[in-house]
Amino acid sequence: MGFIVKNTTKCGPLDLLCPYHCRGCGELGEVLCECCKNYITSEKINHCLKCKKVINEKCQNCTLPFSATFVVGYRDELIGALAEEYKFFGVRKLGKILTEILDDYLPDFSGDVVIVPLPTIQKHVRERGIDHTYQIAKRLAKMRGWKTEKLLLRNKNTVQLGADMDKRRRQAKEAFLFHGEINENKTYVLFDDIWTTGASMTEAGRIFKKMGAKKIVAVVFATNRQGKRPEIRR
Ligand SMILES: [Zn+2]
Ligand SMILES: [Zn+2]
Repeated sequence: MGFIVKNTTKCGPLDLLCPYHCRGCGELGEVLCECCKNYITSEKINHCLKCKKVINEKCQNCTLPFSATFVVGYRDELIGALAEEYKFFGVRKLGKILTEILDDYLPDFSGDVVIVPLPTIQKHVRERGIDHTYQIAKRLAKMRGWKTEKLLLRNKNTVQLGADMDKRRRQAKEAFLFHGEINENKTYVLFDDIWTTGASMTEAGRIFKKMGAKKIVAVVFATNRQGKRPEIRR
């Protein structure tokens, strides 16, 4: 790993002739070339979402409401830039590519698996024209024979972007409503794109635990580095 890519991939006039350039190496043709795509998952290193130490599936030092957590990479790496571009600019081609990266990165989970996207504020879905976590969850479920269930709903239009960490934690506690049923024999994969403070995902995990889920897995594309104050984007 080692790609540090700035999110400066705006469309230029040349894009009309050749619509994509690789976000990793700049080569014209695809939004991400095979080589850069393979590079992202070439070393499958997993980090604890909280302390950022290298772990297998679960950190022995940190308390989080999950049986396992998986993160593809860091936010300042190529994977982080791709996830943000997909979310904020709705580059649809990235949806397929990001799902393939996730499929390649994640181990097989045995038994019945349900993937639950962390819900996005409806206003943001409308503005961006894309329900990014749901789209990825749906694609991944199709590839892996899982089910997608929208078991979490947004309680109200709490705006999380730009809020400071304490405020985000407080908001997360009120952000979700559980809607549906838990089958304790199933594995629930909670999916979000970026782990910033972890407030949303942790709260989602707590809700699933409270509702009786026994196997809860957290999956994200990227997280901030240890000791680095999370950049909270507006
Ligand atoms: Zn490339
Ligand atoms: Zn840890």
